[in-house]
Amino acid sequence: MSGPTENADVFDFIIVGAGSAGCVLANRLSASGRHRVLLLEAGPENRHPWLHIPLGYGKLFTDRRFNWCYATEPQPECHGRQVIAPRGKVVGGSSSINGLIYIRGQAEDFDHWRQLGNAGWSFEDVLPYFRRSEDNERGANEFRGSGGPLSVSDARDAHPLALAYVEAAQQCGYPRNDDFNGASQEGAGLYQTTMRDGVRCSAAAGYLKPARRRANLRIVADALTTRILFEGRRAVGIEYVVGSDKRVARAGAEVIVASGTFNSPQLLQLSGLGPASLLQSLGIPVVADMPGVGDGLNDHYAGRIMLRCREPITLNDAVRGWSGKAAAGLRYAFTRRGALTVSAITAGCFVRAHPASATPDSQCSMALYSGDAIGGELHPFPGVTGVCTLLRPESRGFVRIKSADPREAPAIHPNYLATAKDRETVLAGVKVLRRIFRAPAMARHVAAEIEPGEQCTNDDELLDFIRRRGSTTYHPVSTCRMGQDAKAVTDERLRVRGFSGLRVIDASIMPAVVSGNTNAATIMIGEKGADMVLADAV
Ligand SMILES: Cc1cc2nc3c(=O)[nH]c(=O)nc-3n(C[C@H](O)[C@H](O)[C@H](O)COP(=O)(O)OP(=O)(O)OC[C@H]3O[C@@H](n4cnc5c(N)ncnc54)[C@H](O)[C@@H]3O)c2cc1C
Repeated sequence: MSGPTENADVFDFIIVGAGSAGCVLANRLSASGRHRVLLLEAGPENRHPWLHIPLGYGKLFTDRRFNWCYATEPQPECHGRQVIAPRGKVVGGSSSINGLIYIRGQAEDFDHWRQLGNAGWSFEDVLPYFRRSEDNERGANEFRGSGGPLSVSDARDAHPLALAYVEAAQQCGYPRNDDFNGASQEGAGLYQTTMRDGVRCSAAAGYLKPARRRANLRIVADALTTRILFEGRRAVGIEYVVGSDKRVARAGAEVIVASGTFNSPQLLQLSGLGPASLLQSLGIPVVADMPGVGDGLNDHYAGRIMLRCREPITLNDAVRGWSGKAAAGLRYAFTRRGALTVSAITAGCFVRAHPASATPDSQCSMALYSGDAIGGELHPFPGVTGVCTLLRPESRGFVRIKSADPREAPAIHPNYLATAKDRETVLAGVKVLRRIFRAPAMARHVAAEIEPGEQCTNDDELLDFIRRRGSTTYHPVSTCRMGQDAKAVTDERLRVRGFSGLRVIDASIMPAVVSGNTNAATIMIGEKGADMVLADAV
């Protein structure tokens, strides 16, 4: 062996990133024992208790030990604000810090991917992978799976406000829906979460833990991959650093980039795959001029309203002061119940807010807490937050490196609310959300709307509020989009176009964001991607 990977450790598969997709891949690719697999993760092992206690979600927004804590570029349609862009930087990736909500998206989302030319990605094609991944505590049916690695559960204790929210949505004319991942997504109900017995089921817990003892799987945490190595048009290995120690590993079969929607295009660009002018401006030798790498960033923007409640039964109250925290902690320690098992958001309603929409375009949810800043202190009074996510945003942006230094954050520009349709839809959705909170079943719990406030009555003011106070629901995708056109980065088998031995398998390959939360779909992509890799392995 000679060249850049001479004397390197040799594996069949190298997986860069132990996130939602990376953990699935590590499990499936090492299962037969026939392949040597290296899994590299930039962040640490997932030992800290807050990574396992569901309510830890709120603690992890600003924790740089486990979160890249990115921010977007100033967003022109959001008063020039930089919007937070958290991403997991820990074994389990974003599935270790996310809000635990399990929603796959609509069948039409995947049929749309197929219509864009991606054979094998219609809903009928991907449903078996969703089912294979899942261990739904309600058991299996035509849509749902049981016995898979990912635990999916109902709320341990249905909160009275969550039940009131569902009733209020019904009073507004929306149907009750007991399974958002069943035959239809439309309507109101309680969310299921990726949890088992009150403990978070990240991809690390569900997929990696059972595979850890395999002799053919090596996991290296705190290892930042800095470059993919090529021999001609074949990926042959990677360079990575652990502390100040620079290392090289060789891949006999494939390098699989699973670093997430911000870091996968970053790594490709650092390795010379990207827009030639960008790479040249930073002094990076161009391996392939690929304008699509990093292009097309598509993310969920949400309007958020806040309400003060009458009774002290919200999470603001449950964890207030030392006595509240101690009581919640003890209850969790002894029963795995109570405030610490509550996911980010507990109840929701999928609605068609825009008259042109054939399927739900807005996810109107309620969180059982309120505070001035996301991830900051909760209000010192009872409060809840209404969140309306724009499910199928037309707006697209980009991810571009700003430096040849792999430790520097890339520019993240989702271009929120760039189209008139997006602005119209989110405005219509937030109006639905306000109606639900004003329906009798919720109104009896609400003392006042504190943001934007009852005085905000006309559309211009409400849209201005959404631009000023709205945020992401953390579902960026599409920066290494699969497709058949010139700007597509991967083909429908997730191979980087024009290269051999190189795939991207994570949320970044989605042609468009799904109409729901993205962890379930990313796990599905990991499952399907693993089958493709194994089918092509010699
Ligand atoms: C705060 C938050 C809340 C969310 N809430 C929900 C929710 O409730 N429900 C839901 O379905 N989805 C939710 N999501 C989204 C969902 O978790 C993600 O879409 C999904 O986890 C993405 O998976 P991934 O494999 O693409 O990337 P990730 O899971 O982010 O994994 C990428 C991994 O690669 C590592 N990495 C990156 N660069 C390198 C490198 N150069 N070298 C080595 N390793 C590297 C990262 O550290 C990370 O661990 C949320 C996300 C966040 C951040």
